[in-house]
Amino acid sequence: MHSRKIMYPFPVDGALRPVFRGKQPAHWKAAAEAKGFALIGRAVDRLHVILGCKTCGTPTLKRISVVLGHNPECPHCIRIRRETAARTVGATLCGPDPDGHRHYGLYEFICGHRDRRQHTRVEAAAAGGHQLSCTICLHERHAIEAGAQGWQLLGDADRPNKSYRRYEHLCGHQQDAAIANMRRGDIDCAGCGESWSSKPSKIYLMAFTLPETQVLKLGFSSNPEFRLRQVQENPKMTKGALLRETSVDTGHRAICIEKALHNHIATHRPDLIVPPELFQSHMRITSEIYHRHGKTYISALLDALASGWDPSVQQAAFVESI
Ligand SMILES: [Zn+2]
Ligand SMILES: [Zn+2]
Ligand SMILES: [Zn+2]
Repeated sequence: MHSRKIMYPFPVDGALRPVFRGKQPAHWKAAAEAKGFALIGRAVDRLHVILGCKTCGTPTLKRISVVLGHNPECPHCIRIRRETAARTVGATLCGPDPDGHRHYGLYEFICGHRDRRQHTRVEAAAAGGHQLSCTICLHERHAIEAGAQGWQLLGDADRPNKSYRRYEHLCGHQQDAAIANMRRGDIDCAGCGESWSSKPSKIYLMAFTLPETQVLKLGFSSNPEFRLRQVQENPKMTKGALLRETSVDTGHRAICIEKALHNHIATHRPDLIVPPELFQSHMRITSEIYHRHGKTYISALLDALASGWDPSVQQAAFVESI
């Protein structure tokens, strides 16, 4: 016979819980102990007990059947683990998923935007040293990149490919394009026929300051000044500078020359290649970054280019003359 409800004198999972009078068999205690908990007592009804987590010290309410037959988890340890992962990637876990999905939570990013994210993805990003990018900021960035090329970002691509988006050209024509191609401006409009490959372009050399080293970026773009701003995660830190640029008649020639230059450097000066782990969290690029001490060598290649050398066809002859 249990009289009026007596409450445990501390909150359990955010609420005060009534004591349930009854026996606490030894094998319940043993099962709790074996799974990292102390059996504090019975609560609410005949089916529930309160466990004390031996890792974080916080009490939690569990069904006795879970204690006996399953692997009870401490919700407080899980929350602490998720909050720590969020901090590691520069975000804050604000609370549960507004849509009520238990694998998701509401996170706030460094930019101040909030969005729902899958907890395991946040933890994987933290474990892998990756950034957690904000979808809203990412969309804005892609819109700016498209605007610089005369296109407007509409939204998701018609095709089910995450690296594509739907865009509208100045002429009014709409089509899917790869985000990376739009960024570089190498996109042809199927509506009006404007072709990136026939537009003038430039081969450029840029310099950046990373925490561990100084680096160069060699590439092509119809708008190197824009590209310079857009490759840096934090321009105040990486202090990018456009060192030089060489005009090329068409985008098509530029991409051939750029590829040939990278091949040339990889063949003759592989020591200049910077491993991605040194720059990938500071720059929005995946490869083709060189050590700053290669400036003289790369400048000589660009001098040769400016005076008529075509690295895509005369590689062998040039190698012997340098
Ligand atoms: Zn715990
Ligand atoms: Zn944002
Ligand atoms: Zn068009």
